[in-house]
Amino acid sequence: MNSILDIEHLRTHFKTDDGTVRAVDDVSFQVRQGEIVCIVGESGSGKSITAMSVMGLVEGPAGRVVGGNIRFDGEELLKLSRNELRTIRGNEIAMIFQEPMTSLNPVLKIGEQLMEPLIEHRKLNKKAARKRAIELINEVGISRAEQIADSYPHELSGGMLQRIMIAIAISCGPKLLIADEPTTALDVTIQAQILDMLRKFKEESNMSILLITHDLGVVAEMADYVVVMYAGKVVEEGEVVALFENPKHPYTQGLLKSKPIINQRQEELYSIPGQVPNPLELVPSCYFHERCAHCMEICKTTQPALKEVGNQQKVACWLYEEATANV
Ligand code: SF4
Ligand code: MG
Repeated sequence: MNSILDIEHLRTHFKTDDGTVRAVDDVSFQVRQGEIVCIVGESGSGKSITAMSVMGLVEGPAGRVVGGNIRFDGEELLKLSRNELRTIRGNEIAMIFQEPMTSLNPVLKIGEQLMEPLIEHRKLNKKAARKRAIELINEVGISRAEQIADSYPHELSGGMLQRIMIAIAISCGPKLLIADEPTTALDVTIQAQILDMLRKFKEESNMSILLITHDLGVVAEMADYVVVMYAGKVVEEGEVVALFENPKHPYTQGLLKSKPIINQRQEELYSIPGQVPNPLELVPSCYFHERCAHCMEICKTTQPALKEVGNQQKVACWLYEEATANV
């Protein structure tokens, strides 16, 4: 399978008054065509910032991609101008967020917001865009599409708004959909419907999905491939079945201790004792060492690299390094 998104050694930093936060610290992974990759981790693990880096949404006075490559469909995104990126964003790469209201314009009718990308990227005239907008509203399972098109966002429920966000996202037939906690704010039944719908669209169009979640139930149900992040780093990755059956990293093992219950919303990941380290006080070490029951001397002073451990699984942990096998 071709890879549609290829992230290599991505580093995204934020400058604060107290120092530099390495929010994304040398992260590499791929999303192949037609595949759903889930990034899972606690809040502050860097999973959202990774997604925003791909979309070119962290450029600003404080946050910046300081290194690495992001290749999308063979093209290096980090080299593109703002305008070039804009032609890709919302068109070939679409994004949906946890809170639809943050992306929708409160003073524009739903139909007009659906028409916008169709007019901009697909060059439809107003009439054709309106017709397509109505079809899209139907396709995301909302009845009375005409009436909905003439409504304002505040007139719709959270579940409906997320459906509208998905309609906008798929309107131009993206190759990649990035979904950041798309169902976290929704109740369980609606969450399941939305996930089913995303999978259906994926299957019909062969788009790829990069799904960011803290909910292992969502991972179990949706992912082909899983990337586990901790404190800005990838600590483990692999095919979903291998990773769930045989998690290698003590952090992943801890997460999986709470068996995900499919279709049951999880507010928080199973809480592993201890806290994510202060991002301003990171020293060379395994960042998980203060919470790890298997911590060895080397873990406190030297960072383990992400290495293949067979079965297409990779893990960053000294437990799996030959050199320390006899320690
Ligand atoms: Fe635990 Fe050491 Fe592995 Fe880190 S490297 S997860 S501290 S055993
Ligand atoms: Mg987030």
